[in-house]
Amino acid sequence: MDPLFVKIHPRDNVAIVANPGGLSAGDVFSNGLILRDPVPQAHKVTLTDLPAGAAVLRYGQIIGHLRRELAAGSWVREDFVEMPGAPDLASLALATAVPQPQAPLVGYSFEGYRNADGSAGTKNILGITTTVQCVAPTVEYAIRRIKTELLPRFPNVDDAVAITHSYGCGVAIDAPGAAIPIATLGHISRHANIAGAPLVVSLGCEKMQPIRLLPAYDVQPNLIRLQDHNGFGEIVSTIMEAAERRLAELDRRRRTVLPASELIVGLQCGGSDAFSGVTCNPALGFAADLLVRAGATVIFSEVSEVRDAVHLLTPRCATPQIALDLIREMRWYDEYLARGYADRSANTTPGNKRGGLVNIVEKSLGSIAKSGSSAISAVATHGQKVSAKGLVFAATPASDFICGTQQLASMNMHVFTTGEGTPYGLALVPVIKVSSQSALAKRWGDLIDLDAGRIATGEATIESVGWDLFHLIIEVASGRKRTWADHWGLHNALAPFNPGPVT
Ligand code: CA
Repeated sequence: MDPLFVKIHPRDNVAIVANPGGLSAGDVFSNGLILRDPVPQAHKVTLTDLPAGAAVLRYGQIIGHLRRELAAGSWVREDFVEMPGAPDLASLALATAVPQPQAPLVGYSFEGYRNADGSAGTKNILGITTTVQCVAPTVEYAIRRIKTELLPRFPNVDDAVAITHSYGCGVAIDAPGAAIPIATLGHISRHANIAGAPLVVSLGCEKMQPIRLLPAYDVQPNLIRLQDHNGFGEIVSTIMEAAERRLAELDRRRRTVLPASELIVGLQCGGSDAFSGVTCNPALGFAADLLVRAGATVIFSEVSEVRDAVHLLTPRCATPQIALDLIREMRWYDEYLARGYADRSANTTPGNKRGGLVNIVEKSLGSIAKSGSSAISAVATHGQKVSAKGLVFAATPASDFICGTQQLASMNMHVFTTGEGTPYGLALVPVIKVSSQSALAKRWGDLIDLDAGRIATGEATIESVGWDLFHLIIEVASGRKRTWADHWGLHNALAPFNPGPVT
């Protein structure tokens, strides 16, 4: 492959090296630019001579200022770039550039499960939820036996899942922050993919009593309190009997044709590199626009990866109030980080930097590409279940597990983009993983579901990969295709966000 760089915006004065393995000093690009330094793949090269103090432009935005002068063809190393301050939350434009709705996309459907509460599922799972960590190993023990002894007799049920977590006791459960994990776990316990009706296992003495976890659910007929039983043998057989009755009900369910507007797709990225914002995230953004046009719900999140690009999002909010809601979430998180003596620059990882991302500003500009180009129709706060259609910002940390857990409260499909690679998956919803580079998709051919790296080399376009992803979402939601994470049973533990105190 000839020396190739990828420049995103006409105003950009840097571009990233596309060649696997990087390039050497003296290599010449097709426009005549000669490299002065060896540059690793995905790292940036200057396109013109830049003086010390010059703004470094990528995505047409300032990602930092140079600490020293760099001649054209130089490697833009992380330590050469001074990070700018975050956008001032008090002076953002509110709903000033609301995108016009694109033409509706009609005729798309998937085969899912219609629940009694009106929600739509993409899987048919027996869910056993828990009020406290104390009971988790007991439920996991019962689940192992349910899977081997009972599940084979109920072929229409996809799985049996223990909804376990580290919350429930030893916490200041009346503190303001406690509402977030309680609401998140409550929504997950009524998830569409378990038909909204879990079995509930409680210890008995814990702070998060079943009524507190599930205030609007008829818990009593589905409740097993361990401290009411005589010994482990009786506990397990009680759970098994309840599970068998529930499996018989679930086994009668069948997939039916549902409109694509019933899809609720959570978007996330993890292990990002400098290609993420060029390939997988824009392709996901294109698919997000298709989903919005089909009437579906698309959720993007990760506050600390939105914060530095929020000036590009508040103008896109459908109303000034929605923009103010978005700013409220940014401010809450600024204060949350400040309480821990940190700021948004704590987000970036060594892997991000190895992947060519110099700071959180550059990472954020690539991250928000996932949101596509639609108007933002609603903002949900931490722990709030998303009910709006269209493109919704749901506030979550950027941590893969915590973001995934919070999005799980609302979503019935998950798309995860990655540059460095992660085998991440969730038990309750399918997770489609999209790679930023073809090298990862090849190396991890049995973990990555879709390769967006072909966009960087010109073998595919953002539009074509976006359509591929849209079709893949429908195939997986319908149970006709399986993700690699589900194939291997790679299901990360839930990680509810608890900003409240522990006792
Ligand atoms: Ca993430």
